[in-house]
Amino acid sequence: MTKSSGIPIPSREEFDGVIKLLSNEAASYIRSLDERPVRSQGVHKLLAHFDAPLPSVGSGAIQALEELIRKGVDGAITSAGPRCFHFITGGTTPAALGADWLTTTLDQMAYAWVASPIAAKLELVSLAWLKDLFDLPSDWGGIMTTGATMANFVCLAAARQWWGQKFGIDIAEQGFAGLPEIPVLSSGYIHASTVKALGMLGMGRSSLRKFIQDSTGSLDRQAMERALTDLEGSPSIIVATAGEPNAGAFDPIEELVKLAEQYNAWLHVDGAFGLFARLSSQSGNLTEGVDRAHSVTVDGHKWLNVPYDCGFAFVNNASLLVRVFTHSAEYLPDPTDLEPVMGALGPEMSRRARSLTVWASLRAYGQRGITEMIERHMGLAKCLAQLVDDAPDLERLADVPLNVVCFRYNPGELIEQRLNEINQAIGEAIIEDGRVYIGTTTYQNKVALRPAIVNWRTREEDIELIVDIVQELGERIA
Ligand SMILES: *Cc1c(COP(=O)(O)O)cnc(C)c1O
Repeated sequence: MTKSSGIPIPSREEFDGVIKLLSNEAASYIRSLDERPVRSQGVHKLLAHFDAPLPSVGSGAIQALEELIRKGVDGAITSAGPRCFHFITGGTTPAALGADWLTTTLDQMAYAWVASPIAAKLELVSLAWLKDLFDLPSDWGGIMTTGATMANFVCLAAARQWWGQKFGIDIAEQGFAGLPEIPVLSSGYIHASTVKALGMLGMGRSSLRKFIQDSTGSLDRQAMERALTDLEGSPSIIVATAGEPNAGAFDPIEELVKLAEQYNAWLHVDGAFGLFARLSSQSGNLTEGVDRAHSVTVDGHKWLNVPYDCGFAFVNNASLLVRVFTHSAEYLPDPTDLEPVMGALGPEMSRRARSLTVWASLRAYGQRGITEMIERHMGLAKCLAQLVDDAPDLERLADVPLNVVCFRYNPGELIEQRLNEINQAIGEAIIEDGRVYIGTTTYQNKVALRPAIVNWRTREEDIELIVDIVQELGERIA
């Protein structure tokens, strides 16, 4: 739409066309998801289209969006589809997609009740439902974040505050001056995002001490206990990982709970995707004791299959969150029980109303529906493990407790170094090929593939394709 001067500016009349265009395009994109490659060929070249100077006179909304669709969609990764096994990439349920559109349409600021009653209400309700889903104590505090990285940040900020209080210091208020180094202990499973959070919180990445038993990174419990003994009752922070990304392995949480109780430690559990093990009786034992931790991280945009970005931080003592994240300004509201201020419980003030997608997905599918998805994914992971075990040229490198299968191409009679080169090359070829998407890692000094099954759309045929493609590319490269 144009002004009389001919220069496009935002206008009310543009919306009808925009919505029609997008609902058609979105519908055909979504219909194509099961068939689309995960990555199109020639993305660099395709996206060179966007190397353009800032337009002085714009094109108007419809033209801009048509161009974005024509040139941009093939530059996207089909992470919403069934064959994106790289990282730990969840999809989007239909209910969550609809709620996410509505969220953008309503354009709410989920800072506080007064800024968006519906966002605040649904955040409280969804967090309560999630505590129920994960069998966490109902009196824990919580907040929605952009993902597990920021949830780890929030939980460790609470841990930091707790630790300072043991020395009579309010760290959020006074800082660290005069305090000793803060001891943080973990196994080798600790996720990079937690280490990053230690840096962001001023606790220092080097405050972390890892106690590692073997080349998988598993916990050396005795060494950790010796270190805790050496602290002579001084408080510390233990980080447990419930589901690490290489093979989906778990720290022994129950044992870490006991250590934390005995040695005056805060126990934080990073369960970004692994906390979902708690939903199924097949895997529930992996997270035994989580409800006795002090804080827990879990992602929304991974296994819950709500769109980016979404994570959850749960802390057993909600007042710590208030102490860390409180703020005051003459123009801002004070929190009350009936009119909460979510922005005073987490790092962001203006924030997206993530609660709508979470509420909608939980409302649409319930505990049973989500558990069914988790169990289906664990079944598909077992199925992939079996296919790998049955293939003469594939070698599984780890147990499959959950939804990640760690394996490599190994046709036999090759030295380790050559196998590493071949598997590295297979990993790169998979990304270029684009039919499936799988990441590589180094596991026990071996370069390995580590597909993670997290998308509700994934079917058995998608899993079989992993094996076919790895074998095909492996033969070609070796
Ligand atoms: C993915 C992941 C994270 C980081 O989560 P983001 O949502 O990417 O911020 C942290 N910890 C674990 C165990 C993870 O798998």
